Amino acid sequence: MKIVRTIEELDAYRNELGNGSLAYVPTMGALHEGHLSLVSLAKEKGDLVAVSIFVNPTQFAPHEDFDSYPRMEEEDAKILEAEGVDILFIPDEGVMYPDGMNSDVKAGSNAEGLETTFRPTFFDGVVNVVYRLFDAVKPDIAIFGQKDFQQQQVVRQMVEEQSLPIEIIAAPIYRDDSGLALSSRNLYLSAEELPIARQLNVVLREAAKTGDTDAAEKVLLDLGFDKIDYVASRWNRILGAAWLGKTRLIDNIAI
Ligand code: AMP
Repeated sequence: MKIVRTIEELDAYRNELGNGSLAYVPTMGALHEGHLSLVSLAKEKGDLVAVSIFVNPTQFAPHEDFDSYPRMEEEDAKILEAEGVDILFIPDEGVMYPDGMNSDVKAGSNAEGLETTFRPTFFDGVVNVVYRLFDAVKPDIAIFGQKDFQQQQVVRQMVEEQSLPIEIIAAPIYRDDSGLALSSRNLYLSAEELPIARQLNVVLREAAKTGDTDAAEKVLLDLGFDKIDYVASRWNRILGAAWLGKTRLIDNIAI
């Protein structure tokens, strides 16, 4: 595995590797088994695998956790090396945003509601960086997790609207034994919060059966969640976002 930090290095190494198909997994690092399940899907789908680690400033609002977001580049690189990844792209802000953080692309209608109600600039930041990352990496295939279900829909729509020659593949949600969806932000959870967090998927599963999203919100509050951003139904799924202390968790379950 080669670590590249600039687009020039990335292009040069991509050429060295020859013209097999390239499957790509964008991440913000602090890797866990959920990310690795995307990497193994990438290995299945492509001849070559690229992963990027970039904590993208444009998708964080000023009051959000950009500064405290977990960064563990060395450990992440070791893990990806062991997984047999070919290219690890770790750009800095200057590489991704050489001319500032303005964007030519905006998130489309799939961004409406849900996350956007609570994080109004989030998906514009996501499509901004994903468009730039795709331009840099030039993958044939890109893998996104269904854990961030709306994000995957927004990226898919961006790829269609921009007519990018990239196949977007959805990876299933990777969960621990309790059903908790793995997330880098789970690192923020205290020992007291963790058992409460583990109820989110259980409550969404129940809502997927009953269709009663209002009841689900109430149950989550009763269980100890501090604030519910939403439990809602879309794309034939029940999607939820809820706060435990300073940690915001999201999950979704197929109906
Ligand atoms: P992140 O590093 O949080 O930006 O996530 C990078 C990619 O991994 C995104 O496509 C996420 O949807 C995906 N991902 C994160 N956690 C999981 C999980 N538990 N199961 C499946 N995909 C995940």
